[in-house]
Amino acid sequence: MAASPMVNPGDQPVWVNTDNCKACDICVSVCPSGVLGMKYESTSTLGAMISIDHPEACIGCNECELTCPDFAIYVADKQEFKAAGFSFAKLTDEAKERQAAIVANNYMSLSEQGVK
Ligand code: SF4
Ligand code: SF4
Repeated sequence: MAASPMVNPGDQPVWVNTDNCKACDICVSVCPSGVLGMKYESTSTLGAMISIDHPEACIGCNECELTCPDFAIYVADKQEFKAAGFSFAKLTDEAKERQAAIVANNYMSLSEQGVK
């Protein structure tokens, strides 16, 4: 049986149920650490889909999960994540600068710069 998208995949700090994601950009806008971005996806409703580009930079702040209107993005429980041998990142200047660049790129992943 396939795992439910709501179940922590174990080694990931943040994950998405793409069936529920409406590509609204809200999670991308609130992430302080430049973890998320939108990618063009012709088969999705709004022509884009959320992408977790830098999971290693996730600080576990939960802002994405708390603000997603469609309950489509999940963050690992801190204690469970730690018990499994993983840890969230610290917020760095590099991560903050990447987030600013993503916002300036209209919430699109930086790999999508110049793609239209
Ligand atoms: S806030 Fe939720 S619905 Fe909107 S892009 Fe992020 S995961 Fe998708
Ligand atoms: S938990 Fe915080 S740092 Fe991690 S992806 Fe969500 S908003 Fe970004």
